[in-house]
Amino acid sequence: MQIEIKPIAQSRISEVDFDHLVFGRSFADHMLVADYADGAWQKVTIQPYGPLTYQPAMMSLHYGQAIFEGMKAYRSKQDEILVFRPEENFKRFNKSAVRMCMPEVPEEIFLGGLRQLLQMDKAWVPAKEGCSLYIRPFMFSTDEYVGVSPSTTYKFIIFLCPVGSYYAKPLRVRVETKYIRAAKGGVGFSKNAGNYGGSLFPTQEANKAGYDQIIWTDAATHQYVEEAGTMNLMFVVNGALVTAPTGDTILDGVTRKSVLQIAKDWGMKVEERPLSVKELVEGIQSGAVTEAFGAGTAAVIAPIQVIAFEGKDYELPARKESDFSSKVFHEINQIRLGEVADTRQWIWKV
Ligand code: PMP
Repeated sequence: MQIEIKPIAQSRISEVDFDHLVFGRSFADHMLVADYADGAWQKVTIQPYGPLTYQPAMMSLHYGQAIFEGMKAYRSKQDEILVFRPEENFKRFNKSAVRMCMPEVPEEIFLGGLRQLLQMDKAWVPAKEGCSLYIRPFMFSTDEYVGVSPSTTYKFIIFLCPVGSYYAKPLRVRVETKYIRAAKGGVGFSKNAGNYGGSLFPTQEANKAGYDQIIWTDAATHQYVEEAGTMNLMFVVNGALVTAPTGDTILDGVTRKSVLQIAKDWGMKVEERPLSVKELVEGIQSGAVTEAFGAGTAAVIAPIQVIAFEGKDYELPARKESDFSSKVFHEINQIRLGEVADTRQWIWKV
């Protein structure tokens, strides 16, 4: 597919303070824009990042056909631009699209277009340790129509944000037993905007009570641990790595998948199984649960220090360098930066 290139007249890069990057607040020069109409993908353009104009009746604003992805590009010491497993995000994006009655985006637009976009904006990939270029592909419906039905037109866009190092202070999280994120048969596995909209109020309530994040539990019984805000949850229980199985209520995280693979490769016992809140809190008290952490693109690994349940805080042991979560964090960072052999073919060179 031919991509029309409309380069920016004057780069904005000198306006950005790369030493003080705030996550999601700076945007690279260009974006990729693809239009879907008449049952096919039409024009694809790389153009300056900037405002778009829409009608108030644009369907996505009313009926929620809006999906997105998130991944990161890094600059290696050899000055190569490396992206961590973007094929996985591409596949997940199209799963979300199918569930939300939206057209799938072809690989040549999603990955081929991304490659060209990154080549144009490669100067925006920070060189500083821990920094990266966050990649945000998304799609939304654009018909001007009032009525609940699938739209016939869509826009697919990718923009880029240089982001600073994400210092993950150990988290205090609260087990949620009133609100839910996703139910069986619902859309929890898809990365659609509504899932995040629905999570804001319960998260705000937890924040007011002094917690950073929620641990979502299953909608039917509130007895089993599912995932956190934008992270999958993992625990080390009696030396085994335990995480909830993915299904229709949990986002199939790329970091989760990668951590599980590395653990298996290291010979660690891995259990993808339902973990009850009861087993979790009793395990923290008895010492069977030695580590708890979130896994996701933003922080990679976010250690959890406190888990609150029914008004009581359960404290995990202080994090050590020898912990699995510390070691796997280091390993994934080295892979992402191309500093160890990419034996699993996870790195995509631009
Ligand atoms: N769960 C949810 C709800 C998320 O938004 C994310 C972030 N994409 C994750 C888990 C982690 O997924 P990944 O490792 O692919 O970033």
